[in-house]
Amino acid sequence: MSQPLIDPFARHIEYLRVSVTDRCDFRCVYCMSENMTFLPKKELLTLEELDRMCSAFIRLGVKKLRITGGEPLVRRDIMTFFKGMGRHLESGALQELTLTSNGSQLERFADDLYAAGVRRINISLDTLNEEKFAQITRWGRLPQVLRGIDAAQHAGMRVKINTVALQGFNEDELFDLTDWCASRDMDLTFIEVMPMGDLGNEDRLDQYWSLKDLRARLEERSTLTDLPERTGGPARYVRVGDTAQKIGFITPLSHNFCESCNRVRITCTGEIYTCLGQEGHSDLRAPLRGSEADIDLENAIRAAIALKPKGHDFDYSRQKVDGQVSRHMSHTGG
Ligand code: SAM
Ligand code: SF4
Repeated sequence: MSQPLIDPFARHIEYLRVSVTDRCDFRCVYCMSENMTFLPKKELLTLEELDRMCSAFIRLGVKKLRITGGEPLVRRDIMTFFKGMGRHLESGALQELTLTSNGSQLERFADDLYAAGVRRINISLDTLNEEKFAQITRWGRLPQVLRGIDAAQHAGMRVKINTVALQGFNEDELFDLTDWCASRDMDLTFIEVMPMGDLGNEDRLDQYWSLKDLRARLEERSTLTDLPERTGGPARYVRVGDTAQKIGFITPLSHNFCESCNRVRITCTGEIYTCLGQEGHSDLRAPLRGSEADIDLENAIRAAIALKPKGHDFDYSRQKVDGQVSRHMSHTGG
């Protein structure tokens, strides 16, 4: 292997998140506007380019690869890409291949994903109520997603549910969601809504439900024990009572997690963002397309990592959304 990727703050970059499409079959209100304009196809990295890009990062020491979007499973022929990445699992260079999905296409793809080596999957689900589900996702249908979750578990994948905590929307389902996940042996992570993109009417301060409050509500019913587990990402985990259930909290706004951040993100157009909460990015598509040899690409990756900032500046505390970044979550993939 070449020299590993280490940023100026001595963080080893071992986790790569790659958005493989900006498109989606849902229009979640906190993520996209109803009339999204998507990128022209030629702007997107091809599947071969995605493979070259990810393989370069793996050569440089990335051990964990998470595929996201948009909705990764709506990208045409995406299973070809997953199968390709499977070779890095087989060689041992890659330790984990995983994805974040809205679950809509899992009934079709769960078995293929498992065959490619995917053993864990994050599925986003904010409510167990069919009408509310249609309202929050605009285009999504709950029964289809529930069938997808069944299929993923049936295929043998460990499922984690991601739920965006939304004031006035799913506060009343806190215990229903927790109990439902426990009954199906699924971990659950709550995410604070983040100020991404310009979504028109939605007022992000109105939707914001602090996970400190959410956690206090959970503690009215069960003891929560903090777990030492750190993934290098923004999640902190607790164990519920004396059960095996694990609950995660992703609190980019009320807590700072930057010091241990070991991750970088690639957009579907080949830009690298070294911090989710900053605008700074570099282009990797030009060096990728400029030469069939990967040396320019590897140099561009190293140059980008050398610019990874120390942290982000999101702040809701002053009752205005400071540090807001203008791109949509579907662009960088969350
Ligand atoms: N379509 C897939 C899905 O929904 O899981 C993958 C991409 S989606 C952008 C990744 C995650 O970002 C989802 O869990 C979603 O709930 C979350 N997300 C999107 N917009 C967000 C926002 N403004 N604040 C917090 N989380 C957000
Ligand atoms: Fe699509 Fe995921 Fe964004 Fe919802 S959160 S619109 S499912 S990309």
